[in-house]
Amino acid sequence: MSLDDLYREIILDHYRQPHNFGSLAGATATTHLKNPSCGDEIDLELRVNNGRIEAAAFRGQGCSISQASASMMTDAIRGKTIPEVREILAAFRRLMHGNDPQMDLGDLEALAGVARFPVRIKCALLPWEALEKSLRPADGPAGK
Ligand code: ZN
Repeated sequence: MSLDDLYREIILDHYRQPHNFGSLAGATATTHLKNPSCGDEIDLELRVNNGRIEAAAFRGQGCSISQASASMMTDAIRGKTIPEVREILAAFRRLMHGNDPQMDLGDLEALAGVARFPVRIKCALLPWEALEKSLRPADGPAGK
């Protein structure tokens, strides 16, 4: 099995059986975002307590890249502090630009190949944009 095949399997596993799919009791931030170029949608819910992501969940629909990225992202950020989450976010953006993420991103590294397909980068980044928005609730009403 080639690395591309292995990565595709990881992505399809998350797509078919997404982790952290659903809604959260006591969510402190909820963000809805769409990627019109592909039709992907995501509702991200976070419960932040004492500067730490206590829980993260999402609901959504769209292509396998967007949904798998959300599944992996919610795994990666759970239990992390806000500064740690910002580091993961920056590392994932580096990966999407075809660069070394400079940290271990676990399953998320299966999305590295997306960097070769500019149209799909938006799909992979959709949940991360929702995350970034969720961390800045002061910028405006959530769920726009
Ligand atoms: Zn998509």
